[in-house]
Amino acid sequence: MTAGGLLALAVFLVDTFTQLQGAVAVVYLVVVLLVAASGSRRAIGGAAFGCMGLTLVSFVRGHGWPGLDAAMLRCLVSLSAIAITAVLSLRARDRMATIAGQARLIELTHDSIFVRDMDDVIVLWNTGAEQLYGWTASEAMGHRATDLLGTALPGHHTCVDAALFSTGRWEGEVTQRHRDGRLVIVAARCALLRDDRGKARVILEAGTDVTARRAADAALGDSERRYRSMFEKARFSFWEEDWTRVMARIALLREEGVTDLAAYLQAHPAFVRECCGLTLVTDVNDATVRMLGGHSREDLVGPLDRFLPATDTTFGRVILTIALGGGVAEGETHLINFKGERLTVLFALNMPLGPTRFDRVLVSVVDITDRKRAERALMAVQSELAQAARITALGEMSASIAHEVNQPLAAIVTHGEASLRWLRRPTPDLQEACDAIERVVRDARRASEVVHRVRSLASKEPRQHVRFDLATLVAECALLLEGEMAQHHVMLSVDIAPEAPLPRGDRVQLQQVVLNLMANAIRAMSCVPGARALVLRALPDGEESILVEVEDSGTGIPEDIAVHLFDAFVTTRGGGMGMGLAICRSTVESHGGRLWATNRPEGGATFHFTLPVTVAEEADA
Ligand code: ADP
Repeated sequence: MTAGGLLALAVFLVDTFTQLQGAVAVVYLVVVLLVAASGSRRAIGGAAFGCMGLTLVSFVRGHGWPGLDAAMLRCLVSLSAIAITAVLSLRARDRMATIAGQARLIELTHDSIFVRDMDDVIVLWNTGAEQLYGWTASEAMGHRATDLLGTALPGHHTCVDAALFSTGRWEGEVTQRHRDGRLVIVAARCALLRDDRGKARVILEAGTDVTARRAADAALGDSERRYRSMFEKARFSFWEEDWTRVMARIALLREEGVTDLAAYLQAHPAFVRECCGLTLVTDVNDATVRMLGGHSREDLVGPLDRFLPATDTTFGRVILTIALGGGVAEGETHLINFKGERLTVLFALNMPLGPTRFDRVLVSVVDITDRKRAERALMAVQSELAQAARITALGEMSASIAHEVNQPLAAIVTHGEASLRWLRRPTPDLQEACDAIERVVRDARRASEVVHRVRSLASKEPRQHVRFDLATLVAECALLLEGEMAQHHVMLSVDIAPEAPLPRGDRVQLQQVVLNLMANAIRAMSCVPGARALVLRALPDGEESILVEVEDSGTGIPEDIAVHLFDAFVTTRGGGMGMGLAICRSTVESHGGRLWATNRPEGGATFHFTLPVTVAEEADA
């Protein structure tokens, strides 16, 4: 400013007091430019008007007011030159102010921004670029960007250039080099800036460091690939299921006011079935396809209910576990394969994404059909053995009855005949007859004792006294009868009151009782139409006893055998021995309990038996 003022003064003096004839006035332009370099708009205006004023003063002083001659024209040219210079300086200043503002903005952003000209030479380098690449602005500017950063583009550079020149923009991930030599992955956004005439001037490149994000993505991808390969190649069966619709259905149920979901599910098997249909199998592994005998995964994708038997009761329990927020449910259930065969499987279901995401429920399944078949065969053999042992015992018992009772019977006959002879004499000998009859009575007593002895042998106390879990025992029976139940479409429900005490006794013998009653119930239902429900109930019977009921919806007990139902050899079944109920009663009674049967008014029969739970403890003590 000061320099400008001094220069103006010098020009004025020279112009006014020398004979240079106004030519020196051109130097006023330098004054305006000097002020424009650092002054404000007002200073530029002031300098311009000042210089023009001084030019006029010098002119009038040297020439007067001559009219439009050559000197006057020179003066006008000088004035115009000063004015034009001032206007251009003002415009340049405005543009500089805009550029400075933009540069400040560029500095403010966290992104890396650098500008390269059309020769790839860096002309602007912001703080973000310093942080991202490690070079300071002064180090980077003037270098070719590709040399400095070793940029590796995702495709060929001609494709990138083509996009940049046709649309003015390009975005993509590039790999560049940091000052310390390591590679950084940068999400780059490039813009081609053109001048007013459309000529390409510079390329602005903004970038964000995504190295860490890409590393995390890669780790995630890696873990997903590992999981995928485990899922696909595992020898166990894996299922991925979408439970979203089931959970929405349950939420609706709750909105409708259902609070006790467990009770609701138990009372509405159709709802459980509906939920099964709403559960979608979204993916399975090869082991699953093999297990079910399908051709491809696509065969299995879709609603789950195709694979669960209609009589399944496990699914309701699983729904409950999941709905109550349990992330894991496991147990044993059945699946129907593509040939319509029934498989017994162990399953474990869990929520890998936590209890709020239901679209990726993972279920692992192990086929235990063969193991179960072997177990069943073993149990059947055991059961047959027990039956055979009983029949043998029965045979032995009969033989011993025959042998032990035969003697007194023969003696009774002999003494009876003798007494008849004494009485038939012309003069009956009453004394002899009485003696013979007394012997008859004595031998009859002996026979009765033999019978009593054999009976007490038959109903001897159970051999084992163990406390056992009735639910497990019933589950084992259900397993043995599974085939028959499925064949006759029998739905079993087990309702053991939580407060029911654990029974004690000979587990094998009592299992035979339950098995017998359940088998009879299934047979009684096999020939009736409609729903076939077998219910096994257990509840406390007073303080010291448990009451077990086996209820069916079958034919009911035929009236003609009702009175003798528990006697040996009473049967209405062709091929039946009629020994089952007799043995059941003697087993229950030998445990100190009672067994009886009633017909249900709505059809079907109920067999009830009690077992004292303390007697055995006393016996133990
Ligand atoms: P079996 O089964 O060899 O006939 P049981 O002693 O087990 O011998 O049964 C005797 C008879 O009792 C059966 O033949 C049948 O008529 C009748 N019975 C047993 N259980 C039931 C039942 N749940 N419903 C109707 N009748 C039954």
